[in-house]
Amino acid sequence: MLNTVFRLDEPQNEPVGSYAPGSAETESLKACIQSMAGETLDIPCIIGGQEVRTGETYDIRAPHDHSLHLANVHAASAEILGDAVKASQEAWKEWSETAPHVRASVFNKAADLLAGPWRDRVNASTMLGQSKTCYQAEIDAACELIDFWRFNAWLAMNRVYTEQPASNEGMWNYVDHRPLEGFVCAITPFNFTSIGGNLPTAPALMGNVALWKPARTAMLSNYYVMKLLEEAGLPPGVINFVPCRPAEMTESVFGSEHFSGLHFTGSTAVFQLLWRQTAENLPKYRTYPRLVGETGGKDFIFAHESADKDALVVAALRGAYEFQGQKCSAASRMYVPDSIWPEVRDKLVAEIGKIKMGDPTDWSNFMAAVIDENAYNDITGYVHKAKAGAKILAGGGYSKDVGWFVEPTLVECEDPRFITMEEEIFGPVLSVHVYDANKLDDALHLCDTTSPYALTGAIFARDRVLAERMAKSLRHAAGNFYINDKPTGAVVNQQPFGGARASGTDDKAGGVQNLVRWVAPRTVKETFVPPNDWRYPHMG
Ligand code: NAD
Repeated sequence: MLNTVFRLDEPQNEPVGSYAPGSAETESLKACIQSMAGETLDIPCIIGGQEVRTGETYDIRAPHDHSLHLANVHAASAEILGDAVKASQEAWKEWSETAPHVRASVFNKAADLLAGPWRDRVNASTMLGQSKTCYQAEIDAACELIDFWRFNAWLAMNRVYTEQPASNEGMWNYVDHRPLEGFVCAITPFNFTSIGGNLPTAPALMGNVALWKPARTAMLSNYYVMKLLEEAGLPPGVINFVPCRPAEMTESVFGSEHFSGLHFTGSTAVFQLLWRQTAENLPKYRTYPRLVGETGGKDFIFAHESADKDALVVAALRGAYEFQGQKCSAASRMYVPDSIWPEVRDKLVAEIGKIKMGDPTDWSNFMAAVIDENAYNDITGYVHKAKAGAKILAGGGYSKDVGWFVEPTLVECEDPRFITMEEEIFGPVLSVHVYDANKLDDALHLCDTTSPYALTGAIFARDRVLAERMAKSLRHAAGNFYINDKPTGAVVNQQPFGGARASGTDDKAGGVQNLVRWVAPRTVKETFVPPNDWRYPHMG
């Protein structure tokens, strides 16, 4: 029995590659993209370490190029999902008893593999499959996922397991941070490869086993992440990779007595549906399932008239249009006082006109395509509504000839509760409401109460005392709040991420708050010299 007490050194955030034209990192990534674009991958389910080809396949195409057929994916049936549950329970026997340092070692090795030999593959597959530019892929698929793995391992070893109760004289108290009995179901979104990688691995790090259902449109990169985890030494069955139609999960996964946790990121509607489904099955479960969900947003930028106007414009452009506005944190509504609006508007419109959009493998593009036909139809539907009920100041165009392209669009809404100010669009559409500079408090109240979400928000003001007052009145409007910065780009261990209200359970991915959801603590009290008389002194 090993008697080492481990403490890990605090990791550093993974440096972001610049991918300057002509640099060695650019040449290497481009070569990887070229070879990946030239093949059609056959993606199986991976259950108990075995590749399972079901024959029920669908194809994956690049969002920016309909002709680029990247993969065929084998979807799991309800029966195969049942096999995955069984495989997870088999793996649970040993993994749940495996020492923390061994588990941490797997994910630290995964981080090193991703930082080194796997970086290009995971970045290239994210660029091709999810239509991210090289920079957007790098900060997501490489840096954020590396950070999740390294910081989670460090937090588990140095914070969660070391958190122990007091022991008074004559006794010894301690907590055994047990994994949950059963399996955790990780259901992941299309928009971040890092979230795909984090949701099944955070519970696995804490000794749990998982079923991982990736989003259909992120399958290429997510499959490479799964293969990387195998290479890192993750034992068979600890994470089971199960692409499937959501309906297949209803009975086989949510109806299983072993279902003990949901780690979800995606839309609010789906999370609410899964919560209801869980509640209906409650009597079947052996333990109350942990429900952790990060969901939608209607993220805002709120400017005071003292704001630095250039900084405000840059925050709006990057916050609203990077990755085509498909970040959960993307700025999609903005409040600007009438006293500075003409200048801010003219600068915004001029800069939007300079944005280049197209194939993400062309390094000069700032934007690429939206994820799929459904997203394209939803977003262009909102553009139509804006054309009819508000004023389009820039963009408003779209095309599906080559890929799913929607122009960066700026909408001025006289009505602060116009539909594009209220609903999550998840595309490159920024709606602005211009408020009376003399009615700051009314405008702040409007911002706080317009949407059911509370994910991210930013305020811009030079006057710091005033900024504090604004931050106070928006205290519950965002789980990630920024002062004089864009509302996107949270970094692991620096700005733990998540929101409340309709945006989720706020269990902060990449924070200790998240890891503790995946343990069931057992408190042990040992008494050294137990009493041998049952009577108390007051009895005389
Ligand atoms: P989505 O809700 O459509 O899908 C998310 C996942 O749920 C996918 O794997 C999907 O296949 C699965 N799913 C859908 N219906 C299901 C069902 N009935 N049963 C089981 N699984 C089901 O979301 P998306 O389009 O992939 O991602 C975009 C959404 O995610 C946006 O709303 C965005 O705000 C949100 N998001 C939030 C965060 C955050 O941290 N708060 C981060 C990223 C994305």
